[in-house]
Amino acid sequence: MISNQSIAEGMTIKLDNVLPEYPEFIEGLRRAPKREFTLTQKQTETALKNALRYVPEELHEVLAPEFMEELMEHGRIYGYRFRPEGNIAGKPYEEYKGITEAKGVQVMIDNNLDFEISLYPYELVTYGETGRVCQNWMQYRLIKKYLEVMTQEQTLVVMSGHPMGLFRSSPEAPRVLITNGLMVGMYDNPEDWNKAAAMGVSNYGQMTAGGWMYIGPQGIVHGTFNTVINAGRLKYGIKNDEDLAGFLFVTSGLGGMSGAQGKAVKIANGVGIIAEVDESRIVTRHDQGWVDSYTASPEKAFAEAKEYMEKGEGRAIAFHGNIVDLLQYAVDKNETIHLLSDQTSCHVPYDGGYCPQGLTFEERTEMLNNDKPKFVELVNISLKKHYELVKILTGNGSYFFDYGNAFMKAIFDAGQPEICKNGFDESEGFIWPSYVEDIMGPMLFDYGYGPFRWVCLSGKPEDLRATDAAAMSCIDPDRRPQDRDNWVWVRDAEKNGLVVGTQARILYQDALGRMNIALKFNEMVRKGEIGPVMLGRDHHDTGGTDSPFRETSNIYDGSNVTSEMATQCFAGNAARGMTMVALHNGGGVGIGKSINGGFGMVLDGSERVDRILRRSVPWDTMIGVSRRNWARNEHAIETSIEYNQMYDGSDHITIPYVADETLVGGLVDGAFKKYGLKK
Ligand code: NAD
Repeated sequence: MISNQSIAEGMTIKLDNVLPEYPEFIEGLRRAPKREFTLTQKQTETALKNALRYVPEELHEVLAPEFMEELMEHGRIYGYRFRPEGNIAGKPYEEYKGITEAKGVQVMIDNNLDFEISLYPYELVTYGETGRVCQNWMQYRLIKKYLEVMTQEQTLVVMSGHPMGLFRSSPEAPRVLITNGLMVGMYDNPEDWNKAAAMGVSNYGQMTAGGWMYIGPQGIVHGTFNTVINAGRLKYGIKNDEDLAGFLFVTSGLGGMSGAQGKAVKIANGVGIIAEVDESRIVTRHDQGWVDSYTASPEKAFAEAKEYMEKGEGRAIAFHGNIVDLLQYAVDKNETIHLLSDQTSCHVPYDGGYCPQGLTFEERTEMLNNDKPKFVELVNISLKKHYELVKILTGNGSYFFDYGNAFMKAIFDAGQPEICKNGFDESEGFIWPSYVEDIMGPMLFDYGYGPFRWVCLSGKPEDLRATDAAAMSCIDPDRRPQDRDNWVWVRDAEKNGLVVGTQARILYQDALGRMNIALKFNEMVRKGEIGPVMLGRDHHDTGGTDSPFRETSNIYDGSNVTSEMATQCFAGNAARGMTMVALHNGGGVGIGKSINGGFGMVLDGSERVDRILRRSVPWDTMIGVSRRNWARNEHAIETSIEYNQMYDGSDHITIPYVADETLVGGLVDGAFKKYGLKK
């Protein structure tokens, strides 16, 4: 067997041979609950050896028992000792070591771990209960070491948080390639994945957690704003230049992404009541000014809501308690709710994502740690009750939409087949629409509008202001209602105080809108008007994600069960030289339920970057539009025809011919009758 000394000598980039001081942990800061531990004794040995392979043998005697205890107590080995002391936050890029791209990537990683942003910062969880930057603090340190020394001729390969190494490439190739949670088909299920995660070989990257492009709750505010305002347009006939004045939105969750709901409904000038069981998250949002008030009384919450609806003023009210209790009150008192949704972490209901009715948040954590079977039982009972209440409220006229958290899937898994359109399985979807099916898909994604974003790496608010103004100058507000919404959004963005963490901005844009803005920013960097910019997007986008219950839920040609679009998008972005390219399993809906990818692109002002932007930015979106067009989605067909005309001689998209419904229906009906097939 090769000696550990030869191994140490075989590497120049490695963790130091020094035992770090055990860092202090701030009392009361959010901590992840214990994760499921189902490993056999042999697998546990492997898990321990896996964690120890990051550190020199001399340190094993101290670290092995520490790691063992972490695995038993937390279900994972986090390597807490390797966490740097204090808060980690995205600093101005000059404070990092390395080439500009590598500095930009480090800003993004650290921003994802900021106490202000991260859900469980000590466990490297950025958002969505389990979405992590990487699996442990040894990986974090090693990734940084690689980034600090990498050149423009190298690409860092990161597999589920593990930096596999630097490999030779070119300045027009990505600097970082990331994959997270990808499993071989027969193991692509939560149980097998959980084992892999406990063994330290798979990471749940969510979307921008493991893709390192999270920008705090702002990232989702714009999407939520678009969703609620368009829901109002769709269901209540609100005109394009009107807002949600006098309308009530009831939902739950003030966590990582759900925390955007109060802010978004207020920007749309509507009233929101948001239930949240964890008081600390309410306090955080209240301190940030993202909710205006909070109460533990449903009566007071609805009374305050009515007051503001009557005044026609926006208001975000947090209800400290369980959403099921809030809805029970609304049903009992016959309260009118216009828009209804849920944003608990139902993609992982049994891992703590959904707090069952009857338990406080603290009791939920306690039971999760000590009596998992009972916890699962209570979650199932609560979800069924939740379903019954939503059914009554929608019967009374509320418009309910599933908010991308696998809420309806969770109800089905809890043992309520009535939630399915066909009454027995999920194959034909669920009885209520997902927000993508009704709103986000047809009104935004099919045109290519999606959650484009950027971070001013200098950390200077004046750079963000300059980019806001530049982005606004690239939008024609008279082109489509969506452009008008986006133009108003960016005009008012600073006033709305959206920044938490780095100087970042979210702005829904279509393919060419994104490219024009990107080129404009790069020119500003070139002229020295602003510092470098990291461009990116949420994976939750036109072409970034294949997820039949969410992003691709408005794909009706049967291909919603495939994951080729997200994979092609990832490959194409890598081939075209985006700085950082990621592909994940799971995302917002859980292992095996989606494949999703994203990118980060550092604008350093160079001509090289101009070239990359021209070929990669339209691709990143148009791959999604072209697939939506091929699924016969009308707005995507229109957009593809327009694109073919504009890019004549360079790009070309195949457009589908549309068959006559009567011809097809009649033929199929006749054939089914003739061959005695069941409908
Ligand atoms: P999170 O875990 O940070 O927040 C969820 C919050 O719900 C927590 O604060 C939790 O305390 C609270 N909660 C749980 N059960 C509750 C209950 N019964 N009553 C009241 N509060 C309860 O997760 P997040 O980052 O906010 O994401 C929420 C969900 O939305 C996830 O499933 C995520 O995947 C999904 N999601 C939504 C979008 C979107 O665009 N809306 C996008 C991606 C993902």
